[in-house]
Amino acid sequence: MALLVQKYGGTSIGSSDRIKAVAERIGKYLDDGHQVVVVVSAMSGETNRLLELGRSVAENPQARELDVLLASGEQVTIALLSMALAERGYPARSYLGDQVQIQTDANHGRARILSIDTDAIRGDLDRGIVPVIAGFQGVDDDGNLTTLGRGGSDTTAVAVAAKLKVDECHICTDVDGVYTADPRIVDTARRLEQITFEEMLELASLGSKVLTPRSVQFAGKYNVPLRVVSSFEQGPGTLITTEKNTMEQPIVSGIAYARDEAKITMSGVPDVPGVASRILGPVARVPTEVDMIVQNTGADGTTDFTFTVKRDDYDHTLGLLEKVREELGARELSGDNRIAKVSVVGVGMRSHAGVASRLFDALAAENINILMISTSEIKISVVIAERYLELAVRCMHSEFDLAHDDVDGG
Ligand code: ASP
Ligand code: MG
Repeated sequence: MALLVQKYGGTSIGSSDRIKAVAERIGKYLDDGHQVVVVVSAMSGETNRLLELGRSVAENPQARELDVLLASGEQVTIALLSMALAERGYPARSYLGDQVQIQTDANHGRARILSIDTDAIRGDLDRGIVPVIAGFQGVDDDGNLTTLGRGGSDTTAVAVAAKLKVDECHICTDVDGVYTADPRIVDTARRLEQITFEEMLELASLGSKVLTPRSVQFAGKYNVPLRVVSSFEQGPGTLITTEKNTMEQPIVSGIAYARDEAKITMSGVPDVPGVASRILGPVARVPTEVDMIVQNTGADGTTDFTFTVKRDDYDHTLGLLEKVREELGARELSGDNRIAKVSVVGVGMRSHAGVASRLFDALAAENINILMISTSEIKISVVIAERYLELAVRCMHSEFDLAHDDVDGG
């Protein structure tokens, strides 16, 4: 008998039929003698709909009211799922964020969880009642409703799981695990049995959509065994944990990509102290997320400064920097918003040299031009033209032989 937290995402509970199916699924675990605490998202599309609704009445909705609005999606699903469970003979009880005291700071729209009071949940479990908790929401010190940021119910689930010291936290979703690469691009992509927190954090940050980076970080910090499983079919899914059971690690575990990237270059910038701060300062204040940054000095003593942003931020960032270019007396501002980032990730890279050159050789063989490179201990990312994205992912997948479950990475 295990104590489990199971989180169901929007697609898994996107209709009455699906909610009933999820209730059945939870019922099977209860029948097997497990204790289950459930965390849910809003029905798929609902949070976006609410966001649009908010923007339809106010151009700049107040953050506090926006949170009250957006959190309502989860209020619907906790009630519906609790009803569906009770109807099947599994007593259940819904909880809003403030009812389980998911205490957060006061940063509306991106609040951080500070503490959780699990007394009520434990009481329910002792009495055979299934607690069904609204993900994504909490309450601040003054009793204001807060939300954790988009995709935040993963974080709620992990936080509840950490507090309850559960045996496993299941992220039940529309895919049956974490894959070596996006199966829509690579038909030989393979579901991973296990992956480390570190690797998963990189994959999530580099574009894999299965889990939010924050939830993985949280799970790693509190050592909560996370399992990504399908809501629709039986299967072991992928276990995310500290150590893999295999003696040796594969060099590369997975490939992630981000399509929605853009790069901006300011060239001919006078090479004096403070240039990076002058260029990125105004960008950071918006705030805009800046990813890769490259600076190099040419023979004429001026500097070229290139960085990437999300494609949505491209136009306004260019606009912002035109003024900076004039002030700095830089030669030119240019950019490209049809780029993509592809990354290979694996803890085995630590102990194996030559991964980068294998990767560059493989791309060269396909005539794919590399625009930017960035590396860390366990990942290599390249920026390429977006039109080569699929080709690049496939060629990396075969270069590191990810279709086969061996440990030497080919
Ligand atoms: N419903 C929220 C969102 O769509 C939270 C979540 O799905 O995890 O962002
Ligand atoms: Mg969601």
